[in-house]
Amino acid sequence: MQLVPTQEDVLDLLRKTGALRKGHFAYPNGLHSEEYLAVALAMRYYQHARTLSVGLSRKLRANSELRAMVPELSIVAPATGGLPVAYGVCEALRANQVYWAERDDPNQPLRFRQYMKQVRGEKVLLVDDILRTGSKLGQLRALVEGNGAEVVGLAVMIYQPNPHTPSFDPLPLYYLAKLDSMYYKDESSCDLCRRGVPVEKVWI
Ligand SMILES: [Zn+2]
Repeated sequence: MQLVPTQEDVLDLLRKTGALRKGHFAYPNGLHSEEYLAVALAMRYYQHARTLSVGLSRKLRANSELRAMVPELSIVAPATGGLPVAYGVCEALRANQVYWAERDDPNQPLRFRQYMKQVRGEKVLLVDDILRTGSKLGQLRALVEGNGAEVVGLAVMIYQPNPHTPSFDPLPLYYLAKLDSMYYKDESSCDLCRRGVPVEKVWI
């Protein structure tokens, strides 16, 4: 495998580890899809996690402005799902620190742990496993910028946009692979349901 794995290398690795599955899936929000993606299933294996993290960090290093910031760079994840990616990228880049936002209740805003203060002008790279709806990364960006820190870019393992995914321009976005997934908005519009393909419920 190359130092920066190709799109196909990444997708092969995700399939091999069960992180990317073909089938017929029903999501809690009612969407149906032929594909299921959970990067955490690939990140549980140290060697695979390392391959992906080093690959993503090499893409980041190719940006000379970002490379110059690495010694003072904070790697910040919007939730615990992004943590293996955040630590992997931080280690590969040799960045300054890693931390993450969280919330107890999905209706509450994201926040950092007590005493985890950001400093004005702190350089922050937002990191997550997948960029899909962009909702959490958008909230995290607002939180970080509201604290006076400076977001310098976004990095995700997989970019899986839908027509409503917001643009984070002019921030640079780094990803290892882009995945176009087909979603049906409910059971009645789902081809697979119509063909009687057995459905599997997924909870995330
Ligand atoms: Zn269906």
